[in-house]
This record gives sequence, C-alpha cells and structure tokens, in this order.
Amino acid sequence: MVTGYAEITKDVHALKRAPYLADWAKLREEWSWDLPKSELDLPDGLYNLAHECIDRHVEAGRGDKRAMIWQSAGGDVETYTFADMRAHTNRFANALKGLGVQKADRVFLFADRIPELYFAVFGTLKTGAIIAPLFSAFGPEPVLERVRRAEGSVIITTPKLLPKVEQIRGELPSLKHVIVIGHREGAEVAEGNLDYRALTKDASEQFDIERTGPEDWSVMHFTSGTTGLPKGAAHVHNAVIGHYATGKYVLDLHEDDIYWCTADPGWVTGTSYGMFAPWSNGVTQVIDEGGFGARRWYETIARHGVNVWYTAPTAIRLLMKAGANTAREHDLSSLRYVMSVGEPLNPEGVVWGQDAFDLPIHDNWWQTETGAIMVANYPSMPIRPGSMGRPFPGIEAAIVDDEGREVTEPMTEGSLALRPDFPSMFRTYWNDQERYDSRFQHGWYISGDKAKRDADGYFWFVGRDDDVINTAGHLVSPFEVESCLIEHEAVAEAGVIGKPDPTAMEIVKAFVTLSEGYEASEQLRRDLIRHCRDKLGPGTAPREIAIIDTLPKTRSGKIMRRLLKARELGLPEGDTSTLEED
Ligand code: ATP
Ligand code: MG
Repeated sequence: MVTGYAEITKDVHALKRAPYLADWAKLREEWSWDLPKSELDLPDGLYNLAHECIDRHVEAGRGDKRAMIWQSAGGDVETYTFADMRAHTNRFANALKGLGVQKADRVFLFADRIPELYFAVFGTLKTGAIIAPLFSAFGPEPVLERVRRAEGSVIITTPKLLPKVEQIRGELPSLKHVIVIGHREGAEVAEGNLDYRALTKDASEQFDIERTGPEDWSVMHFTSGTTGLPKGAAHVHNAVIGHYATGKYVLDLHEDDIYWCTADPGWVTGTSYGMFAPWSNGVTQVIDEGGFGARRWYETIARHGVNVWYTAPTAIRLLMKAGANTAREHDLSSLRYVMSVGEPLNPEGVVWGQDAFDLPIHDNWWQTETGAIMVANYPSMPIRPGSMGRPFPGIEAAIVDDEGREVTEPMTEGSLALRPDFPSMFRTYWNDQERYDSRFQHGWYISGDKAKRDADGYFWFVGRDDDVINTAGHLVSPFEVESCLIEHEAVAEAGVIGKPDPTAMEIVKAFVTLSEGYEASEQLRRDLIRHCRDKLGPGTAPREIAIIDTLPKTRSGKIMRRLLKARELGLPEGDTSTLEED
C-alpha cells in the first residue's frame, strides 16, 4: 500500500475534505517539478506537463527506466526509456517551433496508437501549444467540425488517415501544416504535407521548454458525444497535479509496476490515464496499437506482466461474453488491480472479475470536463458492487436538487455536483463560454449525471440527466434495469430508454443483445420481463423488450441511448460523429 494512503482514505466519508489533500499546493511540493529555479520568474512558478511526465525523471537519474513498452498491431515490441522520450519530444518540439507554432496554438492529433503520436503530444506541450486529440476512426466530417471549431493550425496524422485530412483541407483556413507520422522509412510523403522523419532528423535533442505557468492551456478534449454535440473541454497545465495524485492513490501505481490503460487517446482516459497519470508517476506502461480481442488482451497482460489494468465496462462485457474460462487459460498472475471507467459498471461485472481474475473490478467516475478521477473505489476500501465509490480526497462532491441546493438525505436522487476548485477541472468549452457558464449553480459544477449518495458516502449512478425515465410519476434508473437484465444468462448487453406513453408519460423499454448460444424468441422475451419483474418490481421492470443484434455505441464504447430512442420514435439521430460503425 502507498505510504499515507490509509490516512487519506480512512476518513474520507466522514470529512468533506481530507486534510492531506485539502491544499493541492501541498501535494505539488512532493515534486521538484518546476523548471530550473534560475528561470523562475513568474510568481506562481513555471511548469509544464511534459516536463513533469518526462524530463523530471531523467533529471532525477531515472533516464534509463522504461517509459513505454509499445506493442504493434502485428505483435512486434519496441521500448522507449524516459531518456528516449525526452530526446524524441525535444526534437519534435524544436521542429514545431521551427514551423512557427506558438503558445496556445491548437495542434490536432489524428493517428493510431503509434510511438510518434506520444512523442508529438509531449513535444507539442513543450512548445506551449495545446494538444487536441481526435479518434483515429473518425471520418472527414467530424475532423472538419472539430478543427474548425477550435481553429486548429496543425494536424498530425498518418499516411492511412491523410486522405481524410486532404478532403477537408480546403475548408480549414486556420490550418497551416499537416505533419505525417508513422510512414515507412524511405516512403514519400504526399506533396503539400510535412514529413515527421525529415522534420526531426537533424533537430536538436535539447529544447528550452516554453515558460508555461499553471493556468496556461495544455489539452483540449472533445467529449464523447453520448448525449449530443461534442464539446471542446479545455484544460491547463495545472491539471497534472490531479493526474499525479489520482495515479498514485486511485490507480495505486508503484515504482515497479507495469501499467496498461486500454483507452484510446482520442478520448480523455487515453490521455489523462494513458499518458499523464502513469508518466507523471514515472511508471512503465504498455501501449497496444491493436484493437480489442479477448485472447489478444490476455496475452498482452501475460506477455508484459501487467500489474495494474485500467479498462472500460464495454470491454468487460465483451470479456464476459468470451467467458471466464478464456481468462483462466492465460497466466494472469501478474495482475494486482483492475479498474473501469466510462460508463456504469454493472455489479455483475465487478463480481465476474472476482471469478475470472480472482480480483474484483474497481469502478470510478469522472468526465472529460473534470480531467481526472473524481469518485472511486480505492484499493483499500471494500467495494460496493454497482457503486462508483467515494470522492477523491480534496474533491467535494454532493447531490444537489434542481435549484442547485445540496441534498443531504441519504439515497435521495439528484444531480451529481462538484465544487469546481480542483486543478484538473476544465476552464472552458472552447469558443462556447455560454455553455460553460450554464454548468454552474450556487458554486457547484453540475455534472449532468443523476446519482444518489448512501449514508457512508458512496455514490450510486442513476443515469444521465436525459436518460432517467419517468414512468407513472416514478423515476427509473436505466442503469438499474440494464444491470438486472445482464444478470440473466441469455443477455450480453442492454440499453434501456423511456418510451413516451399517453398514460404513464413514459414506459420502460429495453433493447438487448444475446449471449452466444441463445436465440431470440417470444418465450425468451417473456422470461426476461419476468426476471426483471421478480427482481425490480412491476413499476421498474421493462414493459417492452426488443432483441437486437448490436447496440449503438460511441467509439469509446458507450451505449448511445439517445440513438435507441430516436430510432424507436423515428426522430432525427442528431450528431452521430462519434458513433461506432458496425
Ligand atoms: P457528451 O458529454 O458529449 O455527451 P460523454 O459525457 O459520454 O459525452 P465523457 O466525458 O467521455 O463524455 O464521459 C463522461 C460521462 O460518462 C459521465 O458524465 C457519465 O455519464 C459517464 N461515466 C463515466 N464513468 C462512469 C461510471 N463509472 N459510472 C457511471 N457513469 C460513468
Ligand atoms: Mg458529458
């Protein structure tokens, strides 16, 4: 266990703000992370996320430690030490500077998980420019929309994705450079674009990091688009305090750990926890270029001896579908700690982890906007399956009513709200200050999620604001109904919506996909309704169930209930830029 961990978690539910972290500045003192003291000419000190994640470790004599174990889609492995990372990122930073990129310029990354993507992220941060990652599976339209909204000046992409960028280039007056990474040595880069290899070849391995302060922009992430048009949440360099602290106390990262985060950097988990948290803690991490495959994933854990694993409910449900026996066929004895984020983790998933890995799965909650984990099941705390856990020390979370007033009565449903005074909190929605302002009430940031808090301070997810169902005056949590459905052996995944109804206002309607070996039938539909009625009662159980082949999901794996609803009602589907293709 991490030193000091017990103290910070022990009383977390009794104290609103744990004393250990009540003052974020104290935590910052744990590092020698300012740029060299002689250069400290700003009152707050200077620091830079890339310096904290890379250079600091080299300066502390850990340059030879492995930072990245990269596994290609084909299974080849390359390793990069912190010293290698420093050299590559410095070279790229020099190249960008040479192109005239300036502090706060928006640099977009549109690439698969290859080493140069990571060098480009930290090289860009060293110049003081803002990184804006995009899902590599986006088509040209979503790229256009986001680059245009953020007035991006650079796009970094790969030969495979370049044609998509070329299609929209003429419509982006702000775009000055397209840099191509990951092309084969000796291969020509299409005219009009810049070649990463050529740009960095003779660049110096020394770079004078831009004088960034804590409140300077660092990362802009577009939200997942689960509930509507994605928003460009902008963060500052100070956020790394949150990444470091949660990496240490929630991810429980230790010096010799091998860590693996399965999220793509196209969404925030892939940067905050696929780059900043592990590397600010100086930990070695595995990065896999390949996509999901139950066997591939288990082989990856066994091959690299992964200890700490951070993944998502959608992946866990797929692993469940592949069966616990598939897990048991691999040597997963290195695993010490498994976590999940992105959607509610059904209690069934937590318990399945225990069965398949001998380890429960720890759920935690946060958002693109919060930049770092806010509520978590910690390693030292008993898990309550189905709960998101308790607030991170230094984070004040509450349930508030529609007027933004705190509700203290346990297990009362309301909006999950946070005091917005922590370092990783977003500072605006880019070019949409009005929407940003609308998220605050009585000093609370209103998350847009409905939840409950029990008497011991554990938070329980109910649903997103738009997803909570009102049936005959009774509020139903889609998550609760979905969790009940997937407890049935025939059900692989479930998405639940409120369907308008003239008498009940809404009725509960469920869409389910089936586990292997089951076939749709009237009998099965009736069995599922009965199963839910027995467990949840007739007021909460679905009145209608449709058995379908796949559920619409975002590319980060979240069930898009708004699409299920739009399709059910024959309404326009709205923004589908983040919809995963079948
Ligand atoms: P958009 O805001 O564009 O609709 P999004 O909210 O899905 O997209 P993200 O910031 O990636 O974008 O996701 C955060 C949301 O994901 C949370 O607000 C919550 O609804 C859901 N979520 C994340 N983790 C959990 C969890 N552990 N339990 C329940 N819900 C979670
Ligand atoms: Mg959101």
